Amino acid sequence: MKEFRYERPTDADSAVALLTDAPGAAYLGGGTNLVDLMKLGVAAPDLLVDVSRLPFEEVEETDGGGLRVGAAVRNSTLAARRMVRERYPIVSEALLSGASAQLRNAATVGGNLLQRTRCLYFQDVGKPCNKRRPGSGCPAREGVHRDLAILGASEHCVATHPSDLAVALAALDAMVHLVSAAGPRSLPLTELHRLPGDEPHRDTVLRHGELITAVELPPPVPEARSAYRKARDRASYAFALASVAAVLQVRGGMVHHVRIAFGALAARPWRARTAEEALLGQPATEEAFGEAVDRELAAARPLRDNGYKVPLARRLAVSVLTDLAAPDAGGQR
Ligand SMILES: Cc1cc2nc3c(=O)[nH]c(=O)nc-3n(C[C@H](O)[C@H](O)[C@H](O)COP(=O)(O)OP(=O)(O)OC[C@H]3O[C@@H](n4cnc5c(N)ncnc54)[C@H](O)[C@@H]3O)c2cc1C
Ligand code: SF4
Repeated sequence: MKEFRYERPTDADSAVALLTDAPGAAYLGGGTNLVDLMKLGVAAPDLLVDVSRLPFEEVEETDGGGLRVGAAVRNSTLAARRMVRERYPIVSEALLSGASAQLRNAATVGGNLLQRTRCLYFQDVGKPCNKRRPGSGCPAREGVHRDLAILGASEHCVATHPSDLAVALAALDAMVHLVSAAGPRSLPLTELHRLPGDEPHRDTVLRHGELITAVELPPPVPEARSAYRKARDRASYAFALASVAAVLQVRGGMVHHVRIAFGALAARPWRARTAEEALLGQPATEEAFGEAVDRELAAARPLRDNGYKVPLARRLAVSVLTDLAAPDAGGQR
């Protein structure tokens, strides 16, 4: 591993200043992704700015009845919070479906959202990869791509984003709060990650030195139910092959509010806006859910070995929505 300097600032301004002046520097959360990538030679920062002890460790109710989660809150802490389990159960479900207890104890909210793709070629410095080395090629298209994207990919990259938490936050219309040398700004979680286009090395819209300070959840939708469901090769300690987070409010048998986000199908959490629009005001039936999800997945462009994700994602979404619509069973509030 290349030698690097380590700094642990105590406030956000100092952290931002350290990174802004150093193009080769990176923020360090729990290190469960970045340090692995450093060991593999994929990442080689010359300065690590530890932001895991900044004063962003609170989970607080906002004045409007939502929740503000500091970027340094550990994944296990967030999943266990009573307020989260009772009011935003998909956040707990998504977090607990990921990684292991030890990893969740170390991983932070900010780091979780910015973890890099698990594409095998990205992690192997002996192979070409447009995301790691722009212009070198994308061997995954013809090679091993069973886990990779069916939506929103480009000829330059077919990677998926691996975070479970990000999928739940996309379905909840969460906002991400940031700070940089230019000051603070906020953006919807759904706008944080980029599709690859012809710049697959840029995972997000963040500028160098921009620090995630918090994630904010709006107040829960009254009488809505929500659930997170994940399909994977093993029952634990495995990334998603496909996942879905859904929030559904049914009134008089009709869909009154619905949010659907897919995970592991694209380079970002995939908000199923076509399906949502198709469902609003429609009967909350399995048939209507199936038709709406089919419309969304019509945009899928699978490769040789990942076409199975289309029916898998469909089954996950339809089963979650059908459970949530059942009057006395299925998903949680
Ligand atoms: C074996 C294994 C299995 C896993 N399984 C899953 C799974 O099933 N589902 C899942 O979702 N995840 C899974 N993970 C990934 C794990 O959740 C992530 O490694 C973790 O969430 C990253 O958080 P961290 O704080 O350790 O980030 P770090 O590794 O410290 O940082 C990750 C990135 O975020 C940046 N960063 C960190 N904090 C900030 C901030 N506040 N502002 C701006 N940039 C920041 C860093 O510079 C770095 O680029 C798994 C990991 C392993 C090793
Ligand atoms: S899919 Fe993306 S990350 Fe994987 S090899 Fe191709 S360019 Fe690299």
